[in-house]
Amino acid sequence: MDSYRGVRTALIVGAGVAGLTAAIALARREWQVEIAEVNPSKATSGWGLCLTGPALRALDELGLAETCLAEGYGVSVITHVDVEGEPAGEVRLPRLIGAQRPAMAGIARPVLHRILYAEAERRGVAVRHGLTVTAVDQQGELVRVQLSDGTDRQVALVAGADGIRSPARSLLGLETSLDYHGQMVWRALVPRPLWATGIHQFAGKADTVGLVPISGSQAYVFLTENGVEQSVLPDAELAPCLQQLLEDFPGRVAEIRPLVSVSESVVRRPVRTSFLEGAWNRGNGVVIGDAAHAPAPQMASGAALAIEDGLVLAQELGRHASVGAGLEAFAARRMPRCRTLVETSVAIADLEQAQRHHEAHRLVDACHRLMAEPA
Ligand SMILES: Cc1cc2nc3c(=O)[nH]c(=O)nc-3n(C[C@H](O)[C@H](O)[C@H](O)COP(=O)(O)OP(=O)(O)OC[C@H]3O[C@@H](n4cnc5c(N)ncnc54)[C@H](O)[C@@H]3O)c2cc1C
Repeated sequence: MDSYRGVRTALIVGAGVAGLTAAIALARREWQVEIAEVNPSKATSGWGLCLTGPALRALDELGLAETCLAEGYGVSVITHVDVEGEPAGEVRLPRLIGAQRPAMAGIARPVLHRILYAEAERRGVAVRHGLTVTAVDQQGELVRVQLSDGTDRQVALVAGADGIRSPARSLLGLETSLDYHGQMVWRALVPRPLWATGIHQFAGKADTVGLVPISGSQAYVFLTENGVEQSVLPDAELAPCLQQLLEDFPGRVAEIRPLVSVSESVVRRPVRTSFLEGAWNRGNGVVIGDAAHAPAPQMASGAALAIEDGLVLAQELGRHASVGAGLEAFAARRMPRCRTLVETSVAIADLEQAQRHHEAHRLVDACHRLMAEPA
C-alpha cells in the first residue's frame, strides 16, 4: 500500500531512457506525468546499446523485458580475443530474469525508445517536444515550474532526466564536473555476421574493438580509441577513419572492417563521466540518470542505472509520506551502487589505456556480478 497521499503530479525534464522509464514507473502508481523534451521530434540517434542483466530485470518489472528481447538480440556470453586474434577467455553473464532467458540484450537505440515511448503513451504520459524548463521554484509542498513556451505548472515532483550536461541540475542548484578520460568511442551499425551470437571483444595494440548483435540482421561495432584529445570529425570522415583504425586488428575484425563502409550510422563520442556528490534533490526536485551519475561506456551500464532509477524513484515515493522524504530515500538507496559503477568504469578505462586487458576483463566480470545484486 502506497503511503504518499498528496497530489501526484510530476514534470520530468528529458524523454531519454531515464525520463521515459521514470514516467512509466510513476504512471503505474497513478501519478499524472508530463515530460518536457527539448528535441522537437521523437528521433533518436541510431546506434545500438547493450541492456545488461540489471536493465532487463528492471524492464521486466515494468513488463517490457520480453518486448525488448523480441525486438533486440539476447546474449549471455562475452568472448575476449587477444591482440593476436586468439580466444582469451569467456565471461558467462549472470541470468537475472531466469535461467531460460538471456543474460543481456543488444538493441538499437531507436527501437528501445520506441518501446519506452509506446508504453509511456499507453499509460497516459504526455510527452511535449521542443519544450524545456526555464525556472524551478519550491512553493510549500509543490514546485512551480516555468516552461520555455511561457506556460507554467505547479507539480508535486520535478525530475531532471536531461542527460550528463543537465540544465535542470543547474536550475535545482546542484553542480558537478564532467571528466574526460582520454578516450573517444566509436559505434557503427553493420549487418550481423552469422558467428556473432554473443558479444565479442578484441584487444588491440592501442585500441579495443567489440561487436554486439542487436537483431537477427544487425550488430554494432564499437571501438575505443585510447590516448586522444576530445575532437569532432566531419561526418564524411567518420566511416573511413573507423575503417582505418580497424586495420590494426587481425582475425574476425578484418571481416567486420568492410561492413563499416556500408554503415549509415557511424558515431564518435568522448568518454566523459560524472557523479553528483552530496544531495541529488532540492526540496521536491531531483536528478536521475546521467544527470546524477554518468559512467564510462566500458560497463555498458549507464542505461541500466537510468532504468533502475525510474523504478526505485517510484518505489521510494510510494513508501514515504512526503515527496521530499521519498527523494532522500531514493538518493540514499541509489548512491552507493551508482558511485561503484561510475568509479569501476573509470578504472576499466584506465586499465584499457595501460594495455592491462586481463585485469580490465576481470574487473568487468567482477562488476557485472556485483551489479547482479538487487538495485
Ligand atoms: C557511446 C556510448 C555508448 C553507450 N553504450 C551503452 C550501453 O551499451 N549500455 C548502457 O546501459 N549504456 C550505454 N551508454 C550510456 C547510456 O547511453 C546513458 O547512460 C543513458 O542514455 C542515460 O540516459 P538518460 O535518460 O539519463 O540521458 P540521455 O539519454 O542523455 O537523455 C536525456 C534526454 O534529455 C533531453 N534533454 C537534454 N537537455 C534538455 C533540456 N534542457 N530540456 C529538456 N530535455 C532535455 C535530451 O534530448 C534527451 O532526450 C552509452 C553511452 C555512450 C556515450
